[in-house]
Amino acid sequence: MLVIGLTGGIGSGKTMATDHFARLGITIVDADLAARVVVEPGQPALAEIADTFGAEMLLADGRLDRARLRQRVFSDTAARQHLEAITHPRIAAEIARQLAASKSPYTILVSPLLFESGQARFAQRTLLIDADPAQQRTRAAARDNTSPEQIDAIMAAQMSREERRQRADDILLNDGEPGHLYAAIETLHGRYLELARGQ
Ligand code: ADP
Repeated sequence: MLVIGLTGGIGSGKTMATDHFARLGITIVDADLAARVVVEPGQPALAEIADTFGAEMLLADGRLDRARLRQRVFSDTAARQHLEAITHPRIAAEIARQLAASKSPYTILVSPLLFESGQARFAQRTLLIDADPAQQRTRAAARDNTSPEQIDAIMAAQMSREERRQRADDILLNDGEPGHLYAAIETLHGRYLELARGQ
């Protein structure tokens, strides 16, 4: 089955792009959603997190206190590696499960950390939604109702635009009207359908 890995920096237009692929009938597997599923109450990863980092990582209703856990591992490399050892294999298994269940001609795996996390290994081809950093900043700040400075901090922690551009097989520059992006996606969709038929 053909899997296209889609990525891009914050505010680049990943969601806008995947929404359009979905309108074309393509199944979207979202790595961020998979990462949430594996730490839901009742999941083994959540119990392991509580065992490792303490029950105070859980909220009163039993769900994960994400902010607290993020704070706990933020400047502690060993703790972060331990957390990743608990979650990463389960996230990968959840992604693999969802990809296997997809019935569309090809499937898109969207992940902000496609290259950093190793999730690109699920994909035969990668697509970068590319945007000018100034545009990323304006769009993400407006969407999240945060300051451009906060968006800058997130962008600084992400892989550089240049490195993403070097790694991606396909690049869509999202610098115009949404209709411009949608038209480019439709052209690419035609190519991906052909690739999927050839497999
Ligand atoms: P990502 O998922 O990569 O963080 P989004 O798709 O959520 O990015 O886009 C960020 C914000 O910018 C959203 O509010 C979206 O509607 C808006 N946006 C994205 N692309 C465009 C565009 N070409 N024109 C206008 N607004 C856009």
